[in-house]
Amino acid sequence: MAKIAMKFGGTSVADLDRIRNVAKLVKKEVDRGNQVAVVVSAMAGETNKLVKLINDLDPQYDPKEYDTVVASGEQVTCGLLAIALGALGVKARSFLGWQMPMKTSNMHASARIEGVPPENLNACLESGTVAVIAGFQGVAEGERISTLGRGGSDTSAVAVAAAIKADLCDIYTDVDGVYTTDPRITSKARRMEKIAFEEMLEMASLGAKVLQTRSVEIAMQHRVPVRVLSTFDPDAGGTLLCDEEDIVEKKPVTGIAYSRDEAKISLMKIPDRPGIAAAIFGPLADAGINVDMIVQNVSDDGKRTDLTFTCPRTELARALKALEEAAEAIGYREITSDANMAKISIIGIGMRAHPGVAQKMFKTLSEKGINISVISTSEIKVSVLIPEEYVELAVRALHSVYELDVA
Ligand code: ADP
Ligand code: ASP
Ligand code: MG
Repeated sequence: MAKIAMKFGGTSVADLDRIRNVAKLVKKEVDRGNQVAVVVSAMAGETNKLVKLINDLDPQYDPKEYDTVVASGEQVTCGLLAIALGALGVKARSFLGWQMPMKTSNMHASARIEGVPPENLNACLESGTVAVIAGFQGVAEGERISTLGRGGSDTSAVAVAAAIKADLCDIYTDVDGVYTTDPRITSKARRMEKIAFEEMLEMASLGAKVLQTRSVEIAMQHRVPVRVLSTFDPDAGGTLLCDEEDIVEKKPVTGIAYSRDEAKISLMKIPDRPGIAAAIFGPLADAGINVDMIVQNVSDDGKRTDLTFTCPRTELARALKALEEAAEAIGYREITSDANMAKISIIGIGMRAHPGVAQKMFKTLSEKGINISVISTSEIKVSVLIPEEYVELAVRALHSVYELDVA
């Protein structure tokens, strides 16, 4: 007998037939004699609908009430799945975030899980009952409902798996594993049998939304064996997250990620003096802006220089406002911005041992006439900022040049 955590995303529970299909997959595990905890997302599109209702009512909403509203999608699906399991003769009960409890930080709308005491879940499992858990939600200080950020049900599932010490955490979604790049961008993307935690972490944080970044961090920390599988073709193989040592062939580039919705801000002719970066990024941090890539030029006269950085497009207006309010303290001459940027990243643990990987990226993009405005690198990734209209072209060209295309 094993303890299994299963997670089903929005498309997997999009209507009653799909919920019945999920119930059958859960029943299969129960019939094998396993104890099962299932985490579900809201029905596809439901969370977007709820977010829109809130924004239509008041874009300056209180994040605590935002969480109360958006958490409701998962309440519906966990109840429905418990009913569907009951109809198949499987004992099941629903758990909302507060009933486990899934304790989180107070950062509403993007709360972090602080701990899941396993007692309630284990008591349920040991009584032979399937625990059907509402993903994405938890409980913060003052018993307020919290949510974990978009895509957060992945994180709920891995945290539950860690808490109950599950033997396996299966993430069921609408693709049959983690691909070399988003299969929606190119039909030449290939499923990977295995991916190292470190690579998956980069892929997720650089835009591959197949797993929420935080879920990979928790899996890595608590050594949770995670598989990504298709709900609609569960025997198709899937992808296993594993340690770097378990990957034999370390290609220089194993995956390509992209993120649209990036914005770029340039401050022109800022004074070249100590403290200038702090004067710029202090007010941005205070305004809660997530600054990502940063480049500052060396000034030619030692007096003035230019600085460019990126942030999510949704935060552009707030970032500009914060900078304009701090204009005097910073002392820039001009500020420019571009809301239509995208970030393309190549990722691979083999990059450490292969020189010339970045150069190949730059050359490929230049041959396609794509201008790079910002570059950033780390040990196992290179990211470039380009105009959003070239995302598909860039991803496909890089996918082929790094020999990732299906044979
Ligand atoms: P769920 O609702 O099940 O959580 P998501 O839509 O959040 O599903 O994530 C699955 C989607 O992630 C896929 O449909 C796919 O388009 C996208 N995706 C992006 N990059 C990748 C990748 N490298 N491998 C697989 N899927 C990816
Ligand atoms: N329903 C939430 C969202 O759409 C959480 C999730 O699906 O993982 O972001
Ligand atoms: Mg998701």
